[in-house]
Amino acid sequence: MARQKVTAITKKLLLDLLAASNSAYHSEERHEFSCYLIAEDGVIIEFWLCPGTIESEGYAILNPHHLPIDFRRVGVAHSHPTGNITPSEADLHLFSQSGSVHIIMGYPFDLKSWKAYSRDGEEIHLDVV
Ligand SMILES: [Zn+2]
Repeated sequence: MARQKVTAITKKLLLDLLAASNSAYHSEERHEFSCYLIAEDGVIIEFWLCPGTIESEGYAILNPHHLPIDFRRVGVAHSHPTGNITPSEADLHLFSQSGSVHIIMGYPFDLKSWKAYSRDGEEIHLDVV
């Protein structure tokens, strides 16, 4: 099975990701939200919570080796409670190991406060469908 080229995300999933980020932010621990992104036919349609998430110092580290290989798993998404949605050094390291499409959601977690990045940390465009 070939790697798929991801070009879009469903609006429903994007809203779910933003809502999950928002409720993590408003939880007692004010923690970050992080998950794997699942795509079919080039469209991100679903997320899986990450079992191996380690939260520390304001960013989340996911262990990609905790899950079996699944070609639908195209990358990771996580929230930045600061609202700065530029990838950190740790994020760039994570991106390089965890797939081809990564999303950062920032406070206030609305439809303008997210961006998608490539494996190299370059900003990429995703259609919202
Ligand atoms: Zn981050």
